[in-house]
Amino acid sequence: MEADVAVIGSGPAGLSAAIALASNGVKATVFDRLSEAGYGRYHTVCGAGISRCTFRKLRYLRESDILNTVPEALIRFPGGTDVSIGIDGAVIDRPSFLRRTRELCASLGCSFVHGRVVSVVRAEGGFEVSLSDGAVRTFTHVIGCDGAFSVVRRCLFGSEPRYMVPAREFITPETVPDRFELELSESYRGAYRWVFPSGDRCNTGSLPGASEPGGWIQSGGRIIPCGSVPVIEDDNAFLCGDAAGMANPVCFGGLSAALLSGQECAHAIISGRKGAYGRWWRRCILSSRRFSELHDSLASMTDGELAKMAAPVGRFRSLWLSGICASLRHPKYIPMYIGCLITFRYGW
Ligand SMILES: Cc1cc2nc3c(=O)[nH]c(=O)nc-3n(C[C@H](O)[C@H](O)[C@H](O)COP(=O)(O)OP(=O)(O)OC[C@H]3O[C@@H](n4cnc5c(N)ncnc54)[C@H](O)[C@@H]3O)c2cc1C
Repeated sequence: MEADVAVIGSGPAGLSAAIALASNGVKATVFDRLSEAGYGRYHTVCGAGISRCTFRKLRYLRESDILNTVPEALIRFPGGTDVSIGIDGAVIDRPSFLRRTRELCASLGCSFVHGRVVSVVRAEGGFEVSLSDGAVRTFTHVIGCDGAFSVVRRCLFGSEPRYMVPAREFITPETVPDRFELELSESYRGAYRWVFPSGDRCNTGSLPGASEPGGWIQSGGRIIPCGSVPVIEDDNAFLCGDAAGMANPVCFGGLSAALLSGQECAHAIISGRKGAYGRWWRRCILSSRRFSELHDSLASMTDGELAKMAAPVGRFRSLWLSGICASLRHPKYIPMYIGCLITFRYGW
C-alpha cells in the first residue's frame, strides 16, 4: 500500500516532515488551522535561538536564515555570579525561514489545507481526520505536529507532556551583544529570564509575571511543552516537536527537536521500519532524562542555593578549571554542573 500521510500542523516540525516525505516521493497533505496573518503572528513568537549542529543535520537550513551568530551563553546567577559558556549557536529569522520552507514544500508537491483538525480516529486502512468545517479525509499515516495542545496527542495517544511552561517575550528596538543571556532566580521556578539578540533588535522573555522591559514594541506568549510524552509512535501514528513535548526543560529550546523529529519521523515512514522513530528519540541526546532531573533540581532551589552552587564556577576564566574547582568544593552539585554543560553543548 502506498503511504498517504496527513501532517497536522505546519510549524517547524510539520514542514520538516513534509519536506522529507515529499523529497522521497511520498504524498503528504499538511493541515494548519491558522490564516496567513494568524500564522505570521503565531510563528513570530520565539527566541529563535538554535544550535548550529542542527544546520549540519538539515540540508534545507541555510546560512542565509541566520540573523545573529551566537558564540556565548552568559548565565547570570543570584548573588552576582556570571558564568560564560562557549556555544555554537545562532538566531534565525523564523518567519522568513518558515515562509521559504513552505514554498519549498509546495514546489516538491505537498498539498496544504487550511483548516482546524478537531479529531483523528483510527479507521479501516488508516485514520480519519475531521476538520471543523465538517470535512473528513482518510490517510494511511498521521503525524501530529500540532503544537502544545495537540489534537493528535489527545485523540490517539492520550498522554500529556511532563511540564507545560508558559513563556512570554518582548521585542525592544535596541542592539544587544551576540550572546544568549539567561538570568536564573528562584522566582522563575526552574526557568529563566532571557535576553537574546534578534538582528538589530532585542528579544527578552520569561515566565509571565516577571518585569516587562520598558519601550517594547511587540510582545507575545505561548506554552512550551517539555519533558516528552512516554510514547511518540503507535502503529502509523506519530508525534513530533511540541506535540510530543520535546523542548528541552532546562534551556527550553524546542526548534531543533521539532525540526529533527519531523525529519526522522518521515524517514521512518519512508523506510517502513516499525519502531525506528521511537528508537531514534530514546537514543537521542535531546531526550536524556538528565534534563528533567536538572529542571526539577533548579525549580526547587532558593536564590541562596543557586548562588552557592554558582560561586566557585565563576572564579576562573577556563570552564574546565571552574568545573573541577566547583566539583571539589560542592560535590553534591556535580550532576547539576554536568547537566548544565550538556544542555548548552548538546541539548538544544
Ligand atoms: C516565547 C517563546 C520563545 C521560544 N524561544 C525558543 C528559542 O529561542 N529556541 C528554541 O529552540 N525554541 C524556542 N521556543 C520553542 C519553539 O518555539 C517550539 O518548540 C517550536 O515552535 C515547536 O515547533 P512545532 O512545529 O512542534 O510546533 P508549533 O511551532 O507550535 O507549530 C504548530 C502548528 O500546528 C498548528 N496547529 C495546532 N493545532 C492545530 C489543529 N488542531 N489543526 C490544524 N493545525 C493546528 C498551529 O497553527 C501551528 O502552525 C520558544 C517558544 C516560546 C513560546
